[in-house]
Amino acid sequence: MDQATTVDVLIIGAGFSGLGAAIKLVEEGFDDLVVVERGSDVGGTWRDNSYPGAACDVPSHLYSYSFALNPEWSRAFSPQGEIYDYIRRVTHAAGVRDKIRFGVEVTSARYDDTRERWTVETTAGEYDARVVVLGVGALCEPKNPEIDGISEFAGPVFHTARWDHSVPLADRRVAVIGTGASAIQVVPSIAPVVGHLDVYQRTAPWVLPRMDRAYPRFERALYRRVPGLQRAVRALQYVSREFQVVGLTRNRAALAPISALGRANLAMSVRDPALRAKLTPNFEIGCKRILLSNGWYRALTRKNVDVVTAPISRVTPEGIVTADGAEHPADVLVVATGFHVTDSPFFERVHDSAGRTLADKWASEGMEAYKGTTVAGYPNLFVLVGPATGLGHSSMIYMIESQLNYLVDALRTMRDRGLQTVEVREAVQDAYNRELRESTGETVWVTGCKSWYLDAKGNAPAVWPDFTFAFRRETREFDLSAYRRTAVDGAGTENPTGTPTGQAAAL
Ligand code: NAP
Repeated sequence: MDQATTVDVLIIGAGFSGLGAAIKLVEEGFDDLVVVERGSDVGGTWRDNSYPGAACDVPSHLYSYSFALNPEWSRAFSPQGEIYDYIRRVTHAAGVRDKIRFGVEVTSARYDDTRERWTVETTAGEYDARVVVLGVGALCEPKNPEIDGISEFAGPVFHTARWDHSVPLADRRVAVIGTGASAIQVVPSIAPVVGHLDVYQRTAPWVLPRMDRAYPRFERALYRRVPGLQRAVRALQYVSREFQVVGLTRNRAALAPISALGRANLAMSVRDPALRAKLTPNFEIGCKRILLSNGWYRALTRKNVDVVTAPISRVTPEGIVTADGAEHPADVLVVATGFHVTDSPFFERVHDSAGRTLADKWASEGMEAYKGTTVAGYPNLFVLVGPATGLGHSSMIYMIESQLNYLVDALRTMRDRGLQTVEVREAVQDAYNRELRESTGETVWVTGCKSWYLDAKGNAPAVWPDFTFAFRRETREFDLSAYRRTAVDGAGTENPTGTPTGQAAAL
């Protein structure tokens, strides 16, 4: 068998989080680092989600790394291609591309208590790493619907995150299943092209207008010459989004103006009362992600588009049969049914020293980490975009950068103090999550709708239930006292009460 590649830090994934980790760690002098990426390029979700109309619904200036602002965004809300190019440019400029091994998929990561290191099996051999950083993202594993007969469908079937660009849609009958953030971007883009479009809606989303506009050349030049101006615009975008947190997490009455805007948007866009009734949401605004689109409602009023609200019974080779017995012929089936978030299959590949997987631990005990990043029982593992870091209202890059501060300070602390391992104390993690659960209990996300924020038990372990600056504050510094630790030479582990002994007592 080939020898394992020994590396100090192994980062899994080269999307925004994994790349950010590589850039920040290399900057801090952690050069013995490898990034493994299953795809053939950087970009993660922005590489994979190339469906027609894909764009970011967080403003461009805010949806970028704070250390790599981009004055050249063409619009207020950037299209996918521009974000993908941005990530590639940043990777190149930061000089970390040669750290990335493309086409390498991790099949298992196992911590070894005796060696105090991780053994990571991949499709291209084994890595032996001291520290593992999970940068696999939360919205990366497409969730395909389990519908009777779907595998028998005669035409192409693909998920929005795996768009098959070789399939022509012009003049064909297309069915789109789902009405979430992805579907509302796809549908307006393909509706003018296809012959007929059936949109299968299980739950009508809240949709607000998207205040989008192209940035004229002079404005971009201004951002280029006066970076402070771009920072000011970014700060304004950040603050205005943060206001939503009051309504989402503390006082739902504060969401009333937003729901009024949503209702007005629907009333002004859809004149037909029957269609409007179908499209009227029946849950509290904010419970699911609030969607932004200027084209969604208009697309649904087109003559060649039908909104089907009867539940899907089964798929036949020719199309879809709904519970009312109607048969809806289709040539192409697009599933816009979201992602495995709290049940990501990747968690099945991460094992503690006793062989227990993160998937098993989180399924039975709840998806919990400490500060969204570290997990008791899994030393030297840092999870980016981990539990309780998801957002519905603002930029995930802000949360990622907060975690990067924590990660870099953790590794710096370990280096300065000669530590081999750190592992969050279970009691600290439990207390942290007790508080989080109490806060989440007050939020709009647990008011009865279904969303990817929730786990099978109806808790919302995926979302951060507070202002994002509160998360930034709590991740500013690595709090070593919350961790059990061992020294580099193996001396001085802790006794079961958590009291350091030997050399560790002095660390
Ligand atoms: P999603 O929000 O989870 O929506 C999935 C949709 O599919 C929902 O309408 C759901 O209906 C429906 N669905 C699921 N299973 C179904 C089934 N078996 N039969 C019928 N309908 C079914 O997924 P998404 O639209 O891909 O978005 C996921 C997340 O990705 C977003 O919340 C957002 O965070 C991110 N995203 C961001 C952007 C952006 O602009 N930044 C764009 C796209 C996606 P129910 O509502 O009834 O469950």
